[in-house]
Amino acid sequence: MRLFDTHCHFETAEAGEIAAVMERARAAGVERVMAVGGSVALNASATCAAETCGCLLACGYDRDQALADRPPVPDAPRLAAWGEIGLDYHYSPETRDAQRRLFAEQLEEARRRDLPVVIHTREADDDTLGLLREIPSRGIIHCFTGTPEAARSFLDLGFYISISGIVTFRAAENVREAVRVVPDDRILIETDSPFLAPVPMRGRPNEPAFVRYTCEFLARLRNMPAEDFAELTFANATAVLAP
Ligand SMILES: [Zn+2]
Repeated sequence: MRLFDTHCHFETAEAGEIAAVMERARAAGVERVMAVGGSVALNASATCAAETCGCLLACGYDRDQALADRPPVPDAPRLAAWGEIGLDYHYSPETRDAQRRLFAEQLEEARRRDLPVVIHTREADDDTLGLLREIPSRGIIHCFTGTPEAARSFLDLGFYISISGIVTFRAAENVREAVRVVPDDRILIETDSPFLAPVPMRGRPNEPAFVRYTCEFLARLRNMPAEDFAELTFANATAVLAP
């Protein structure tokens, strides 16, 4: 089985620690990992993971950086996507306007660089969709937790939908409902580590190796062998990130 974790963060730029995490990932069959930034610190640790461990790389500025200093991100050879970027009205409703300005600016930056985007959207799907209609983009809606209707709208715009370990949580029936509308050729899996470890690892720090639990859970949900689901999500991730 070969797996592709399309979204993980490293909270350290210490190459030895990243290598240990990646060693366990490889042992679990995780052949490719995209290290994702979103702030100065996360962009730096993701770049370190790309340079020292061969991870694919995404850099950009997320909603928490709406009022922060944002130095330009240098071009890097393994830069496969721009992100994460987007809107979060659950945690930061007070910065809505600044978040929207930053998100638009980041979508333009991805267009200039001709890169797919990695989008975070929480309790903000209408505004996210509105901006994506104004600034045509391609890429991934990561850690999807929206409604089936929102999933359909993102799919209509050509986006891939990435599912995290949340789908394994008992209370996440809404995510399982949304998963049912995502076709086999647009679904991705991710850990969003170090957060959101899937069942049976829930409560522990998450890491890319654990993407296999999300794969196995979704394969059961879709009535297909885990091998086949791993393979199709691997192919989808390759299509959007490394065409
Ligand atoms: Zn993330």
